[in-house]
Amino acid sequence: MSKKPPIILRTREEVQNWREQLRQQSARVGFVPTMGALHQGHCHLLSRARSENDVVVLSIFVNPAQFGQGEDFSAYPRTFQEDLELAQENGVDAVFYPTASEIYPSGFSTRVGVGPELSLCLEGAARPGHFDGVCLVVSILLNLVDPDRLYLGQKDYQQCVVLRSVIRDLGMRAHCEIVPTVRDFDGLALSSRNRYLSEGSRLSARILPRAMNCTAQRYLAGERRVSQLLEAFESCFAQESSKNNLVEIEYLVALELWGLKPIDSDHSDAMVIAAVMRVNTERQGSPKVIRLLDNLILQSQEPWIQAIRDLKDRIDFVSMREDESRVQAIRNREGEGL
Ligand code: AMP
Repeated sequence: MSKKPPIILRTREEVQNWREQLRQQSARVGFVPTMGALHQGHCHLLSRARSENDVVVLSIFVNPAQFGQGEDFSAYPRTFQEDLELAQENGVDAVFYPTASEIYPSGFSTRVGVGPELSLCLEGAARPGHFDGVCLVVSILLNLVDPDRLYLGQKDYQQCVVLRSVIRDLGMRAHCEIVPTVRDFDGLALSSRNRYLSEGSRLSARILPRAMNCTAQRYLAGERRVSQLLEAFESCFAQESSKNNLVEIEYLVALELWGLKPIDSDHSDAMVIAAVMRVNTERQGSPKVIRLLDNLILQSQEPWIQAIRDLKDRIDFVSMREDESRVQAIRNREGEGL
């Protein structure tokens, strides 16, 4: 590794002093907030930030305020040493790694939140209070880091909409950059929670990107009727899920682009298809349900059209390989028969 190790900032004061020095140098600052357990999705955000700014700050903070009761706060993966290595590889200059009491010191009583139309639907309905926690922590972090650009992943589409709204309404300076979803080789969106999936349920999880891809193919072929695009997802999902009972769709919606309102006409050139799939898996011997999020931005513009093509390539690649192994299995059987 040739890049310098990032400096580690533990307190609010250290961040503010460090930021003050940068201000005197007129450095442009890019900021990537995360909960750690970094993967290539996070790295993509970091490398975008690296290419567009003089200085890159990463924060790693598993924010208790955005986890509900019975959620995985204490079990959330914490991999600080590996995260530091990835941070260094991706040219991060500073890592803000605070304790919970540094972010929420005794006497803390401030609340930040968006209205119910943004915070109570979709993920907000499934995870009450989640977006209050997100808005609060990101507001604190943005005040401390004061970045020129904030990098967010498209994978958490509702989070992007909510935070864009906070930044605009509170007159914050940061410009929001939304980075297309980074996917695994088979199309599944990368997520820190994918590591909770058992081998079998990880295979079952492929249904979600495949169904998304059915919609994407129809869009690429010129279909603009919302009902047909949703139907393509549903029939692909129904066909695939008939082979196993580990997965079910929690919600599937077509939303106005960069908002959370469902599209109310049957024809649209631009929209977001958002879905959550529940996967039944097993962790440490007990049954567990993992919610996997995905969305597609259907719009004939870069980088979104490229992201749709990329998804298709991944799905095609895997089915080609699987075909090959099926062919190989048949050959082996024929060999045995000879
Ligand atoms: P998290 O650590 O899960 O809170 O995520 C930190 C940031 O990384 C958020 O802006 C996420 O949307 C983004 N992110 C997570 N997974 C991906 C992915 N597969 N592709 C792009 N961005 C992602």
